[in-house]
Amino acid sequence: MVTAGDLYLLAVTVMALVALAVAIPVLLDIVREGRERLRQGRPEPPVEAEEPDDIDGVQCRHCGTVNDDGYAYCEECSRQL
Ligand SMILES: [Zn+2]
Repeated sequence: MVTAGDLYLLAVTVMALVALAVAIPVLLDIVREGRERLRQGRPEPPVEAEEPDDIDGVQCRHCGTVNDDGYAYCEECSRQL
């Protein structure tokens, strides 16, 4: 026999499941947003630092010495520019 208590329990269970079904996408959204924020918070290497246009000559990517244009190898560390 079904009592009022059983119906109440059933109703509460259904409501809990519905609430869960509604909450899961929201929670997933929050997690995704948090990951996105973490990724954005990581400092990206500045692109301009890799190829500076304002220096005269060729900057060695190994030691940072600026060599005159036309040189294929660094005068400081002798590695290929
Ligand atoms: Zn060098």
